[in-house]
Amino acid sequence: MRYISTRGGINPLPFKETVLMGLAEDGGLILPEAIPRITEETLSYWQSLSYPELAFEVLKLFADDLPPHDLRDLINRAYATFTHPEICPVVKKNGVYILELFHGPTLAFKDIALQFLGNLFEYLLKERGLKMNILGATSGDTGSAAIYGVRGRKNINIFILFPKGRVSPVQELQMTTVPDKNVFCLAIEGTFDDCQQIVKAIFGDLSFKKKYALGAVNSINWARVLAQVVYYIWAYFKVSETEKATEVRFSVPTGNFGDIFAGYLAKRMLGKGIERLVLATNENDILTRFVNKGDYSLGKVTSTISPSMDIQIASNFERYLYYLFGENPARVRAAMEKFAKEGRLSFSEEDLAKVRKDFLSASINQEETLSMIASFYQETGYILDPHTAVGVAAGLKFKDQRPMICLATAHPAKFPEPVKKAIGREPERPEALKGLEGKEKRVTTLPASVAEVKAFLAKNALI
Ligand SMILES: *Cc1c(COP(=O)(O)O)cnc(C)c1O
Repeated sequence: MRYISTRGGINPLPFKETVLMGLAEDGGLILPEAIPRITEETLSYWQSLSYPELAFEVLKLFADDLPPHDLRDLINRAYATFTHPEICPVVKKNGVYILELFHGPTLAFKDIALQFLGNLFEYLLKERGLKMNILGATSGDTGSAAIYGVRGRKNINIFILFPKGRVSPVQELQMTTVPDKNVFCLAIEGTFDDCQQIVKAIFGDLSFKKKYALGAVNSINWARVLAQVVYYIWAYFKVSETEKATEVRFSVPTGNFGDIFAGYLAKRMLGKGIERLVLATNENDILTRFVNKGDYSLGKVTSTISPSMDIQIASNFERYLYYLFGENPARVRAAMEKFAKEGRLSFSEEDLAKVRKDFLSASINQEETLSMIASFYQETGYILDPHTAVGVAAGLKFKDQRPMICLATAHPAKFPEPVKKAIGREPERPEALKGLEGKEKRVTTLPASVAEVKAFLAKNALI
Protein backbone atom coordinates (compact mmCIF):
# COMPACT_ATOMS: atom_id res chain seq x y z
CA MET A 1 0.00 0.00 0.00
CA ARG A 2 1.29 3.42 -0.91
CA TYR A 3 0.14 6.83 0.26
CA ILE A 4 -0.66 10.05 -1.52
CA SER A 5 -1.60 13.60 -0.51
CA THR A 6 -5.13 15.04 -0.83
CA ARG A 7 -3.48 17.89 -2.77
CA GLY A 8 -1.62 15.64 -5.17
CA GLY A 9 1.85 17.13 -4.58
CA ILE A 10 3.91 14.21 -3.25
CA ASN A 11 5.30 11.02 -4.73
CA PRO A 12 3.58 7.89 -3.39
CA LEU A 13 5.09 6.79 -0.05
CA PRO A 14 5.07 3.58 1.97
CA PHE A 15 3.25 3.47 5.34
CA LYS A 16 6.28 3.92 7.58
CA GLU A 17 7.19 7.21 5.88
CA THR A 18 3.73 8.63 6.60
CA VAL A 19 3.88 7.97 10.35
CA LEU A 20 6.59 10.44 11.32
CA MET A 21 5.37 12.98 8.78
CA GLY A 22 2.11 14.53 10.03
CA LEU A 23 1.08 16.92 7.25
CA ALA A 24 2.16 16.07 3.70
CA GLU A 25 4.86 18.37 2.31
CA ASP A 26 2.41 20.04 -0.08
CA GLY A 27 0.19 21.06 2.87
CA GLY A 28 -2.34 18.29 2.22
CA LEU A 29 -3.27 15.20 4.24
CA ILE A 30 -2.07 11.65 3.73
CA LEU A 31 -4.45 9.03 2.28
CA PRO A 32 -3.99 5.50 0.95
CA GLU A 33 -3.83 5.17 -2.84
CA ALA A 34 -6.83 2.85 -2.69
CA ILE A 35 -9.28 1.75 0.00
CA PRO A 36 -9.22 -2.05 0.23
CA ARG A 37 -12.60 -3.74 -0.20
CA ILE A 38 -13.04 -6.72 2.11
CA THR A 39 -14.42 -9.94 0.59
CA GLU A 40 -17.25 -11.95 2.17
CA GLU A 41 -14.83 -14.76 2.85
CA THR A 42 -12.40 -12.52 4.74
CA LEU A 43 -15.27 -10.96 6.68
CA SER A 44 -16.49 -14.31 7.92
CA TYR A 45 -12.95 -15.09 9.08
CA TRP A 46 -12.63 -11.72 10.83
CA GLN A 47 -15.98 -12.11 12.60
CA SER A 48 -14.67 -14.43 15.31
CA LEU A 49 -11.39 -12.62 16.10
CA SER A 50 -10.50 -10.87 19.36
CA TYR A 51 -10.00 -7.09 19.21
CA PRO A 52 -6.17 -7.21 18.94
CA GLU A 53 -6.39 -9.96 16.30
CA LEU A 54 -8.88 -7.97 14.26
CA ALA A 55 -6.70 -4.85 14.62
CA PHE A 56 -3.78 -6.84 13.26
CA GLU A 57 -5.75 -8.04 10.20
CA VAL A 58 -7.05 -4.55 9.40
CA LEU A 59 -3.76 -2.71 9.97
CA LYS A 60 -1.78 -5.29 8.03
CA LEU A 61 -3.61 -4.24 4.86
CA PHE A 62 -2.37 -0.67 5.27
CA ALA A 63 0.97 -1.14 7.04
CA ASP A 64 2.35 -3.79 4.73
CA ASP A 65 5.94 -2.52 5.02
CA LEU A 66 6.09 -3.56 8.71
CA PRO A 67 7.08 -7.18 9.38
CA PRO A 68 3.84 -8.92 10.50
CA HIS A 69 5.46 -10.20 13.67
CA ASP A 70 6.47 -6.66 14.70
CA LEU A 71 3.07 -5.19 13.85
CA ARG A 72 1.35 -7.83 15.97
CA ASP A 73 3.66 -7.05 18.87
CA LEU A 74 3.02 -3.27 18.64
CA ILE A 75 -0.74 -3.91 18.66
CA ASN A 76 -0.72 -6.44 21.48
CA ARG A 77 1.32 -4.14 23.72
CA ALA A 78 -0.97 -1.18 22.94
CA TYR A 79 -4.15 -2.98 23.94
CA ALA A 80 -2.62 -4.75 26.95
CA THR A 81 -2.92 -1.36 28.72
CA PHE A 82 -6.75 -1.50 28.52
CA THR A 83 -8.67 -2.57 31.60
CA HIS A 84 -11.59 -4.34 29.88
CA PRO A 85 -10.95 -7.86 28.51
CA GLU A 86 -12.86 -7.04 25.30
CA ILE A 87 -10.96 -3.72 24.87
CA CYS A 88 -14.01 -2.01 23.31
CA PRO A 89 -17.15 -3.68 24.69
CA VAL A 90 -20.59 -3.01 23.18
CA VAL A 91 -23.55 -2.75 25.58
CA LYS A 92 -27.24 -2.38 24.78
CA LYS A 93 -29.12 0.29 26.72
CA ASN A 94 -32.55 1.72 26.04
CA GLY A 95 -32.75 0.35 22.49
CA VAL A 96 -29.36 1.70 21.37
CA TYR A 97 -25.93 0.12 21.45
CA ILE A 98 -23.13 1.92 23.27
CA LEU A 99 -19.64 1.20 21.97
CA GLU A 100 -17.44 1.86 25.02
CA LEU A 101 -14.15 3.31 23.82
CA PHE A 102 -12.98 4.57 27.22
CA HIS A 103 -11.25 1.61 28.83
CA GLY A 104 -7.72 2.84 28.05
CA PRO A 105 -5.33 4.54 30.50
CA THR A 106 -6.78 8.08 30.16
CA LEU A 107 -10.42 7.02 29.80
CA ALA A 108 -11.05 8.57 26.38
CA PHE A 109 -11.25 7.02 22.91
CA LYS A 110 -8.02 8.78 21.89
CA ASP A 111 -6.12 6.09 23.81
CA ILE A 112 -7.07 3.54 21.16
CA ALA A 113 -4.99 5.31 18.54
CA LEU A 114 -2.35 6.92 20.77
CA GLN A 115 -1.35 3.78 22.66
CA PHE A 116 -0.60 2.20 19.29
CA LEU A 117 1.05 5.33 17.88
CA GLY A 118 3.39 5.63 20.90
CA ASN A 119 4.66 2.10 20.27
CA LEU A 120 4.98 2.76 16.57
CA PHE A 121 6.98 5.99 17.08
CA GLU A 122 9.39 4.24 19.43
CA TYR A 123 9.81 1.38 16.97
CA LEU A 124 10.50 3.62 13.96
CA LEU A 125 12.86 5.96 15.85
CA LYS A 126 14.89 3.00 17.05
CA GLU A 127 15.02 1.54 13.54
CA ARG A 128 16.35 4.81 12.16
CA GLY A 129 18.53 5.82 15.08
CA LEU A 130 16.54 9.05 15.53
CA LYS A 131 15.17 11.03 18.45
CA MET A 132 11.98 13.08 18.62
CA ASN A 133 10.56 15.85 20.78
CA ILE A 134 6.78 15.93 20.62
CA LEU A 135 5.23 19.35 21.07
CA GLY A 136 1.50 19.97 21.42
CA ALA A 137 -1.19 22.15 22.98
CA THR A 138 -4.25 20.73 24.66
CA SER A 139 -7.54 21.88 26.12
CA GLY A 140 -7.97 18.50 27.77
CA ASP A 141 -8.21 14.97 26.35
CA THR A 142 -5.54 14.94 23.66
CA GLY A 143 -2.75 16.00 25.99
CA SER A 144 -3.22 13.24 28.52
CA ALA A 145 -3.80 10.55 25.87
CA ALA A 146 -0.62 11.64 24.05
CA ILE A 147 1.39 11.70 27.29
CA TYR A 148 0.22 8.22 28.21
CA GLY A 149 1.01 7.05 24.68
CA VAL A 150 4.70 7.95 24.96
CA ARG A 151 5.52 8.08 28.69
CA GLY A 152 8.67 6.20 29.55
CA ARG A 153 9.55 5.55 25.89
CA LYS A 154 13.09 5.69 24.61
CA ASN A 155 14.23 8.48 22.28
CA ILE A 156 11.06 10.53 22.79
CA ASN A 157 10.38 13.54 24.99
CA ILE A 158 6.94 15.11 25.08
CA PHE A 159 6.07 18.75 25.86
CA ILE A 160 2.39 19.57 26.38
CA LEU A 161 1.16 23.15 26.81
CA PHE A 162 -2.16 23.77 28.53
CA PRO A 163 -3.84 27.00 29.69
CA LYS A 164 -3.13 27.34 33.41
CA GLY A 165 -6.27 26.95 35.52
CA ARG A 166 -8.50 26.49 32.47
CA VAL A 167 -8.57 22.74 31.94
CA SER A 168 -10.76 20.59 34.16
CA PRO A 169 -9.07 19.61 37.46
CA VAL A 170 -9.25 15.89 36.60
CA GLN A 171 -7.67 16.45 33.20
CA GLU A 172 -4.91 18.61 34.66
CA LEU A 173 -4.08 15.98 37.29
CA GLN A 174 -4.03 13.23 34.68
CA MET A 175 -1.27 15.10 32.88
CA THR A 176 0.77 16.52 35.74
CA THR A 177 0.99 13.40 37.93
CA VAL A 178 2.81 11.29 35.34
CA PRO A 179 6.22 10.61 36.93
CA ASP A 180 8.20 9.69 33.79
CA LYS A 181 11.16 11.93 33.11
CA ASN A 182 10.42 12.23 29.37
CA VAL A 183 7.14 14.06 30.10
CA PHE A 184 7.04 17.88 30.46
CA CYS A 185 3.76 19.64 31.32
CA LEU A 186 3.77 23.38 30.74
CA ALA A 187 1.05 25.45 32.39
CA ILE A 188 0.86 28.59 30.26
CA GLU A 189 -0.40 31.86 31.74
CA GLY A 190 -2.96 32.43 29.00
CA THR A 191 -5.80 30.83 27.04
CA PHE A 192 -5.91 27.68 24.93
CA ASP A 193 -5.61 29.90 21.85
CA ASP A 194 -2.37 31.35 23.26
CA CYS A 195 -1.03 27.81 23.71
CA GLN A 196 -1.94 26.91 20.15
CA GLN A 197 -0.40 30.11 18.78
CA ILE A 198 2.86 29.39 20.59
CA VAL A 199 3.01 25.84 19.24
CA LYS A 200 2.22 27.06 15.75
CA ALA A 201 4.91 29.74 15.92
CA ILE A 202 7.51 27.24 17.09
CA PHE A 203 6.66 24.75 14.33
CA GLY A 204 6.84 27.67 11.92
CA ASP A 205 10.50 28.27 12.83
CA LEU A 206 11.83 25.58 10.50
CA SER A 207 15.45 25.67 11.63
CA PHE A 208 14.39 25.34 15.29
CA LYS A 209 11.98 22.55 14.34
CA LYS A 210 14.74 20.70 12.55
CA LYS A 211 17.39 21.25 15.20
CA TYR A 212 15.19 19.82 17.95
CA ALA A 213 13.46 17.17 15.77
CA LEU A 214 10.02 18.43 16.75
CA GLY A 215 7.13 16.06 16.10
CA ALA A 216 3.36 16.28 16.46
CA VAL A 217 0.69 13.83 17.56
CA ASN A 218 -2.41 15.67 16.41
CA SER A 219 -5.35 13.96 14.80
CA ILE A 220 -4.19 14.52 11.24
CA ASN A 221 -1.66 11.70 11.71
CA TRP A 222 -2.69 8.93 9.32
CA ALA A 223 -1.81 6.12 11.75
CA ARG A 224 -4.22 7.61 14.30
CA VAL A 225 -7.11 7.58 11.86
CA LEU A 226 -6.24 4.07 10.76
CA ALA A 227 -6.23 2.60 14.27
CA GLN A 228 -9.79 3.91 14.72
CA VAL A 229 -11.17 2.05 11.69
CA VAL A 230 -10.91 -1.19 13.64
CA TYR A 231 -13.61 -0.54 16.23
CA TYR A 232 -16.24 0.26 13.62
CA ILE A 233 -15.71 -3.11 11.99
CA TRP A 234 -15.58 -4.76 15.43
CA ALA A 235 -18.88 -3.22 16.59
CA TYR A 236 -20.55 -3.96 13.26
CA PHE A 237 -19.72 -7.65 13.76
CA LYS A 238 -20.98 -7.74 17.35
CA VAL A 239 -24.23 -5.93 16.71
CA SER A 240 -25.15 -7.41 13.33
CA GLU A 241 -24.68 -10.87 14.80
CA THR A 242 -26.79 -10.21 17.91
CA GLU A 243 -29.56 -8.50 15.96
CA LYS A 244 -29.34 -10.67 12.84
CA ALA A 245 -29.22 -7.36 10.99
CA THR A 246 -27.52 -6.76 7.66
CA GLU A 247 -27.19 -3.01 8.20
CA VAL A 248 -26.34 -0.78 11.15
CA ARG A 249 -25.89 2.94 11.73
CA PHE A 250 -23.28 4.63 13.89
CA SER A 251 -23.62 7.91 15.77
CA VAL A 252 -20.33 9.76 16.29
CA PRO A 253 -19.72 12.82 18.54
CA THR A 254 -17.56 14.88 16.22
CA GLY A 255 -14.93 17.59 16.57
CA ASN A 256 -11.99 17.33 14.18
CA PHE A 257 -13.73 14.78 11.93
CA GLY A 258 -11.00 12.19 12.65
CA ASP A 259 -13.16 9.61 14.34
CA ILE A 260 -16.05 9.83 11.90
CA PHE A 261 -13.67 9.77 8.94
CA ALA A 262 -12.40 6.41 10.26
CA GLY A 263 -16.06 5.32 10.19
CA TYR A 264 -16.35 6.44 6.58
CA LEU A 265 -13.31 4.31 5.68
CA ALA A 266 -14.81 1.31 7.49
CA LYS A 267 -18.07 1.86 5.58
CA ARG A 268 -16.20 1.78 2.28
CA MET A 269 -14.13 -1.27 3.28
CA LEU A 270 -17.22 -3.26 4.24
CA GLY A 271 -19.10 -2.27 1.07
CA LYS A 272 -22.43 -2.80 2.74
CA GLY A 273 -23.19 -3.15 6.41
CA ILE A 274 -22.83 0.43 7.60
CA GLU A 275 -25.86 2.18 6.15
CA ARG A 276 -25.01 5.71 7.27
CA LEU A 277 -23.04 7.59 9.89
CA VAL A 278 -24.72 10.15 12.13
CA LEU A 279 -22.45 13.18 12.53
CA ALA A 280 -23.28 14.64 15.97
CA THR A 281 -22.12 18.13 16.92
CA ASN A 282 -22.67 20.46 19.89
CA GLU A 283 -23.33 24.19 19.43
CA ASN A 284 -20.23 24.30 17.22
CA ASP A 285 -22.26 23.07 14.28
CA ILE A 286 -20.26 23.85 11.12
CA LEU A 287 -20.27 20.19 10.06
CA THR A 288 -24.00 19.80 10.69
CA ARG A 289 -24.67 22.86 8.53
CA PHE A 290 -22.48 21.28 5.87
CA VAL A 291 -24.44 18.00 5.79
CA ASN A 292 -27.90 19.54 6.13
CA LYS A 293 -27.54 22.73 4.07
CA GLY A 294 -24.29 22.56 2.14
CA ASP A 295 -23.10 25.54 4.18
CA TYR A 296 -19.52 25.07 5.41
CA SER A 297 -18.83 28.48 6.89
CA LEU A 298 -16.70 29.39 9.84
CA GLY A 299 -18.39 30.57 13.02
CA LYS A 300 -16.97 31.61 16.40
CA VAL A 301 -15.91 28.81 18.75
CA THR A 302 -18.42 28.45 21.60
CA SER A 303 -17.31 26.86 24.90
CA THR A 304 -19.56 23.97 25.89
CA ILE A 305 -19.79 21.07 28.36
CA SER A 306 -18.40 18.77 25.63
CA PRO A 307 -15.11 20.68 25.18
CA SER A 308 -13.37 18.14 22.95
CA MET A 309 -15.91 19.01 20.26
CA ASP A 310 -15.50 22.79 20.53
CA ILE A 311 -13.96 23.09 17.11
CA GLN A 312 -14.77 25.12 14.02
CA ILE A 313 -12.10 24.09 11.52
CA ALA A 314 -12.22 20.28 11.43
CA SER A 315 -8.70 19.31 10.46
CA ASN A 316 -9.62 15.94 8.91
CA PHE A 317 -12.47 17.28 6.78
CA GLU A 318 -10.12 17.68 3.81
CA ARG A 319 -9.75 13.89 3.71
CA TYR A 320 -13.45 13.49 3.09
CA LEU A 321 -13.47 16.29 0.50
CA TYR A 322 -10.96 14.29 -1.51
CA TYR A 323 -13.48 11.48 -1.96
CA LEU A 324 -16.46 13.79 -2.34
CA PHE A 325 -14.63 15.52 -5.18
CA GLY A 326 -14.05 12.24 -7.03
CA GLU A 327 -10.40 11.89 -5.87
CA ASN A 328 -9.47 15.04 -7.72
CA PRO A 329 -6.58 16.77 -5.86
CA ALA A 330 -6.81 19.96 -7.94
CA ARG A 331 -10.40 20.47 -6.78
CA VAL A 332 -9.38 19.85 -3.14
CA ARG A 333 -6.55 22.33 -3.38
CA ALA A 334 -8.77 25.00 -4.92
CA ALA A 335 -11.44 24.45 -2.25
CA MET A 336 -8.95 24.65 0.63
CA GLU A 337 -7.41 27.82 -0.78
CA LYS A 338 -10.85 29.38 -1.15
CA PHE A 339 -11.77 28.37 2.41
CA ALA A 340 -8.56 29.84 3.81
CA LYS A 341 -9.34 33.14 2.09
CA GLU A 342 -13.10 33.43 2.50
CA GLY A 343 -13.88 31.23 5.52
CA ARG A 344 -16.66 29.45 3.69
CA LEU A 345 -17.41 26.82 1.08
CA SER A 346 -20.70 26.01 -0.57
CA PHE A 347 -21.68 22.79 -2.28
CA SER A 348 -23.88 21.88 -5.23
CA GLU A 349 -27.04 19.76 -4.91
CA GLU A 350 -25.16 17.00 -6.68
CA ASP A 351 -22.38 17.07 -4.08
CA LEU A 352 -24.92 17.17 -1.27
CA ALA A 353 -26.82 14.17 -2.61
CA LYS A 354 -23.54 12.29 -2.36
CA VAL A 355 -22.83 13.54 1.17
CA ARG A 356 -26.26 12.42 2.33
CA LYS A 357 -25.67 8.87 1.15
CA ASP A 358 -22.96 8.67 3.80
CA PHE A 359 -24.08 10.99 6.59
CA LEU A 360 -27.01 12.21 8.61
CA SER A 361 -26.39 15.05 11.06
CA ALA A 362 -27.81 16.90 14.06
CA SER A 363 -26.52 19.58 16.41
CA ILE A 364 -27.38 19.07 20.09
CA ASN A 365 -27.28 22.03 22.47
CA GLN A 366 -26.24 22.09 26.11
CA GLU A 367 -29.75 21.81 27.50
CA GLU A 368 -30.54 18.78 25.33
CA THR A 369 -27.23 17.21 26.31
CA LEU A 370 -27.93 17.58 30.04
CA SER A 371 -31.46 16.25 29.70
CA MET A 372 -30.15 13.31 27.65
CA ILE A 373 -27.74 12.43 30.48
CA ALA A 374 -30.58 12.75 33.01
CA SER A 375 -33.19 10.72 31.16
CA PHE A 376 -30.77 7.99 30.14
CA TYR A 377 -29.68 7.67 33.75
CA GLN A 378 -33.27 7.55 35.04
CA GLU A 379 -34.27 4.89 32.55
CA THR A 380 -31.19 2.67 32.63
CA GLY A 381 -28.92 3.65 35.54
CA TYR A 382 -26.14 4.19 32.94
CA ILE A 383 -24.20 7.46 33.01
CA LEU A 384 -23.25 9.07 29.69
CA ASP A 385 -20.39 11.56 29.49
CA PRO A 386 -21.41 14.86 27.81
CA HIS A 387 -19.72 13.99 24.48
CA THR A 388 -21.35 10.58 24.34
CA ALA A 389 -24.68 12.18 25.27
CA VAL A 390 -24.46 14.47 22.22
CA GLY A 391 -23.97 11.36 20.08
CA VAL A 392 -26.81 9.43 21.70
CA ALA A 393 -29.22 12.37 21.38
CA ALA A 394 -28.37 12.78 17.69
CA GLY A 395 -28.53 9.00 17.17
CA LEU A 396 -32.03 8.85 18.65
CA LYS A 397 -33.22 11.50 16.19
CA PHE A 398 -32.33 9.12 13.35
CA LYS A 399 -33.32 5.83 14.95
CA ASP A 400 -35.22 3.54 12.59
CA GLN A 401 -35.50 -0.27 12.43
CA ARG A 402 -31.72 -0.55 12.01
CA PRO A 403 -29.53 -0.98 15.08
CA MET A 404 -27.97 2.34 16.16
CA ILE A 405 -24.45 2.10 17.59
CA CYS A 406 -23.43 5.19 19.59
CA LEU A 407 -19.74 5.78 20.24
CA ALA A 408 -18.97 6.44 23.91
CA THR A 409 -15.88 8.59 23.54
CA ALA A 410 -15.10 9.33 27.20
CA HIS A 411 -15.79 7.98 30.67
CA PRO A 412 -18.26 10.21 32.58
CA ALA A 413 -15.86 10.53 35.54
CA LYS A 414 -13.66 12.79 33.37
CA PHE A 415 -16.47 15.38 33.34
CA PRO A 416 -17.93 15.29 36.86
CA GLU A 417 -19.31 18.85 36.91
CA PRO A 418 -21.83 18.61 34.02
CA VAL A 419 -22.76 15.06 35.02
CA LYS A 420 -23.57 16.23 38.55
CA LYS A 421 -25.66 19.03 37.14
CA ALA A 422 -27.68 16.49 35.14
CA ILE A 423 -28.17 13.66 37.65
CA GLY A 424 -27.46 15.24 41.04
CA ARG A 425 -24.31 13.31 41.81
CA GLU A 426 -20.82 12.75 40.49
CA PRO A 427 -20.02 9.49 38.71
CA GLU A 428 -17.84 7.01 40.55
CA ARG A 429 -14.19 7.27 39.72
CA PRO A 430 -12.61 4.25 38.07
CA GLU A 431 -9.23 3.01 39.38
CA ALA A 432 -7.26 5.16 36.91
CA LEU A 433 -8.58 8.37 38.51
CA LYS A 434 -8.40 7.34 42.15
CA GLY A 435 -5.84 9.01 44.37
CA LEU A 436 -4.70 11.47 41.70
CA GLU A 437 -4.89 14.37 44.16
CA GLY A 438 -2.34 12.76 46.47
CA LYS A 439 0.30 12.20 43.80
CA GLU A 440 3.31 14.38 43.23
CA LYS A 441 2.82 16.94 40.46
CA ARG A 442 5.38 17.75 37.80
CA VAL A 443 4.52 20.96 36.01
CA THR A 444 6.30 24.15 35.01
CA THR A 445 4.46 27.45 34.78
CA LEU A 446 5.55 29.77 31.96
CA PRO A 447 4.25 33.07 30.59
CA ALA A 448 2.46 33.00 27.22
CA SER A 449 5.68 33.74 25.38
CA VAL A 450 7.16 31.96 22.36
CA ALA A 451 10.68 32.86 23.49
CA GLU A 452 10.23 31.40 26.99
CA VAL A 453 8.76 28.14 25.67
CA LYS A 454 11.56 27.88 23.12
CA ALA A 455 14.16 28.40 25.85
CA PHE A 456 12.53 25.67 27.92
CA LEU A 457 12.55 23.30 24.95
CA ALA A 458 16.18 24.05 24.13
CA LYS A 459 17.12 23.15 27.69
CA ASN A 460 15.08 19.95 27.97
CA ALA A 461 14.83 18.52 24.45
CA LEU A 462 16.61 15.33 23.38
CA ILE A 463 19.21 16.02 20.74
C1 LIG B 1 -11.46 14.17 20.64
C2 LIG B 1 -12.81 13.84 21.17
C3 LIG B 1 -13.96 13.87 20.35
C4 LIG B 1 -13.92 14.33 18.90
O1 LIG B 1 -13.24 13.44 18.05
P1 LIG B 1 -12.75 13.95 16.60
O2 LIG B 1 -11.93 12.82 16.06
O3 LIG B 1 -11.97 15.19 16.84
O4 LIG B 1 -13.97 14.20 15.78
C5 LIG B 1 -15.17 13.49 20.91
N1 LIG B 1 -15.26 13.11 22.20
C6 LIG B 1 -14.18 13.06 23.02
C7 LIG B 1 -14.36 12.66 24.45
C8 LIG B 1 -12.92 13.42 22.53
O5 LIG B 1 -11.86 13.39 23.37
